[in-house]
Amino acid sequence: MLIYDKNEYRVIRTNTLRCSCYIVSYNEKNVLIDTSVKAESKAIVKSLKKYKIDKLEAIFLTHSHTDHAGNARYLSDSYNCSVFIYEKGLNNIKNGICSIPNGVNFLGKAICFLSNRSPFNNFTEFDACEKAEALTDDTVKSYLGTDAKLAYTPGHTQDSVSIIIDSKIVIMGDCAVNFFGNKYPPFADDEKLLKNTWGELIKINAELYCPSHGKPFGYSEFKKANERLIKYK
Ligand SMILES: [Zn+2]
Repeated sequence: MLIYDKNEYRVIRTNTLRCSCYIVSYNEKNVLIDTSVKAESKAIVKSLKKYKIDKLEAIFLTHSHTDHAGNARYLSDSYNCSVFIYEKGLNNIKNGICSIPNGVNFLGKAICFLSNRSPFNNFTEFDACEKAEALTDDTVKSYLGTDAKLAYTPGHTQDSVSIIIDSKIVIMGDCAVNFFGNKYPPFADDEKLLKNTWGELIKINAELYCPSHGKPFGYSEFKKANERLIKYK
């Protein structure tokens, strides 16, 4: 779905179920942000084809969880493009492994409990991407121009980043979710950092905050969720 088309930027949200990925096009360059799980590789290619995108210049990962990094290797090989992740996530991507973060509510804790006991390690393992490189603000600007920037937004994981487009669109990975009105993610390695990240992201006063799980939401919705968070957590 096309979610932004202004000032030379075009942002598309892919039609994937486990993780919404975003395609940002600028100046004839296309960057895919996140790659979902392996089972959705075809769905991503389909989304790219639907919008007549036949080349990718780069893949940026918001963090190193399996449902974001699952097709980084496959797609970077298919489209012959580079893969970037914040330096703290580089080892995970190069080794194809991540850890399960702490559950912060009943749902998150239940998933952690079950996945730690699962005989299939598909929650923590994915195809290694040895050629991955460090994602910096310069990298973001080199592909997406000076009106795009990288924000280090830790809390969900230590390697979490957000990509800000045109000061209007925040592609935020799992810094927040959007399930039945709930914005607080079920998992966080460090809740104190996450709350600080929320404060910083709200300061941007963006038009649209784009999580990987659930639909994009506006500034006032995010601000209300933050006020509830400060009050009750
Ligand atoms: Zn995650």
